[in-house]
Amino acid sequence: MRSAAGPQPTRLVGAGLALPPFCTTDKLQGQGKPSPYETRNVFGKTKQVARPPASWERRKMVHQKQFSLRTTGQGDMHDITHEVAAAVTASNIQAGTVNVFNIGSTAAIGTIEFEPGLQQDLPAILNKLIPPSRSYGHEQAWHDGNGHSHLQATLLGPSLTVPIAEGKLVLGTWQQIFHLECDVRGRQRTVMVTVMGDK
Ligand code: ZN
Repeated sequence: MRSAAGPQPTRLVGAGLALPPFCTTDKLQGQGKPSPYETRNVFGKTKQVARPPASWERRKMVHQKQFSLRTTGQGDMHDITHEVAAAVTASNIQAGTVNVFNIGSTAAIGTIEFEPGLQQDLPAILNKLIPPSRSYGHEQAWHDGNGHSHLQATLLGPSLTVPIAEGKLVLGTWQQIFHLECDVRGRQRTVMVTVMGDK
């Protein structure tokens, strides 16, 4: 029992956890135990904070994987569900999310029922909404013929987040992940897959 006048516990930043001052890092390390402290940069200041339990470190994970695909030009759609599912399986994440991102500003990612009708319909409706024939500021500045490609890709968005449950993508039976080329020429595309969650 510590007397009222004795050493007071040290309050550690971040965890609200009080440890007695005699419980030093060195002592614990000398006993072959991991230190309960770690040095971290907190808003520009170096501080001693309570180390998260080792079990957290093992369970909380982020996995990143890239894959590439070759497109033939505007309107070329690829079903990339298999590649994304493979990254999720390899990560061993059981519950969380996966983010799928096209690197580059003239292609899009989303979900669709991947069948020939919709593979025609989606590029066709984009060309009606944002036709190649219209005059665009991008074209006047760069003369590269793909002002509509940038706008179509931005409208659909470059990324998609899909939930993961029981180690698998949560998708409907008729819901696949697509990559859509919006640029006027074939491109070599890189897709970044980031899997986050608990193992
Ligand atoms: Zn351009």
